[in-house]
Amino acid sequence: MTDEVRRCTRCILPENYPNIDFDENGVCRVCREHDVKYSGIDWDARERKLAKMMDRYRGKGRGKYDCMVPFSGGKDSTYCLWLLKSRYGMTPLAFNLDNGFAEDGAQLFVKSGADRLGVDLYTYSPSKKFLYEVYGHALRQTGEFCSACVVLIPTTIFRIADIHGIRLIAGGFSDITEAPPPEYAYMDRVCFWNIMKDRFSRKSLAWDFFFPSWKRMFGVKYFNLPDYIEWDLPMIYETLNRELDYNRSMSDIRYDCLGTPHSSYLFRRKSGFGKYEYLYSNMIRAGVIDREEALAIVMERETFELPEGFEEFVSKLGADCSILEETKDKSVFDFPGRKKGIRDLAIKIREMLP
Ligand SMILES: [Zn+2]
Repeated sequence: MTDEVRRCTRCILPENYPNIDFDENGVCRVCREHDVKYSGIDWDARERKLAKMMDRYRGKGRGKYDCMVPFSGGKDSTYCLWLLKSRYGMTPLAFNLDNGFAEDGAQLFVKSGADRLGVDLYTYSPSKKFLYEVYGHALRQTGEFCSACVVLIPTTIFRIADIHGIRLIAGGFSDITEAPPPEYAYMDRVCFWNIMKDRFSRKSLAWDFFFPSWKRMFGVKYFNLPDYIEWDLPMIYETLNRELDYNRSMSDIRYDCLGTPHSSYLFRRKSGFGKYEYLYSNMIRAGVIDREEALAIVMERETFELPEGFEEFVSKLGADCSILEETKDKSVFDFPGRKKGIRDLAIKIREMLP
């Protein structure tokens, strides 16, 4: 694959990224915004805040656990569990969701990770048949299927915390390296319901896709550890390899969702740029990988052409290749979501929880 598009000289965002511009040095808008947003963070002050938060929740769960960590077996969630347990003396529950697209071996990988950490593991696998119907309907309605997971994941995390009487959820999601492009991060439960309602009853989706009530939801705090601790990846690998025989390095590819190549292809078709281009640009800015190496990986992994196995993959969702033509003008943006004011207010209230 030859690379002919103009790219930022610092990250690798291409010229067809929305509203992009390049300064006189060829540095893009997103890089410049990143520098403003992440310069001058007082990590010591944040860590003190974290320690106080842990004091508030330690020993206060209604059941066995002080907190829950969404766990994939990857370095971020493994490090979260290790940190909470060994540095902050918390009793965490590791929670793993099988979204129906886990690679072979992923469950064993997750189980052995939890065993090494010495934490309890709760795995939730909703019926594949049911999930594939939901993904398939999303695909036919909008030309993509990730929207269902975007709603499923936080809902089940909350559900499982709620049924265990856990009031604190600690994620390993790093805004700096993993945040999706804000221009495309559009999905909430109102929008999701509008996509689903002509095929599913509210009741059939309620447990996995909708929160029980605002009141219950606001009784559980969610935060991400990388917002409080500098997420220094070389140090994280070094710690995990030393403490847990984690035996992995930065260049190892993690267990991924089997839907990723297909969802990336569908995403690129609509947006003109790829998910990997965006994610690796984040990683370059975070200093995790250098630009040349990132560009080489992206050229290899990015789905410029229809990925191998696409037909077989969508057949599981009850579709075939004609779905590409049928959905070429459809999008999640055709379905109204929650009013922005209400969404922002809900986010604010949750952030204010002590
Ligand atoms: Zn850039």
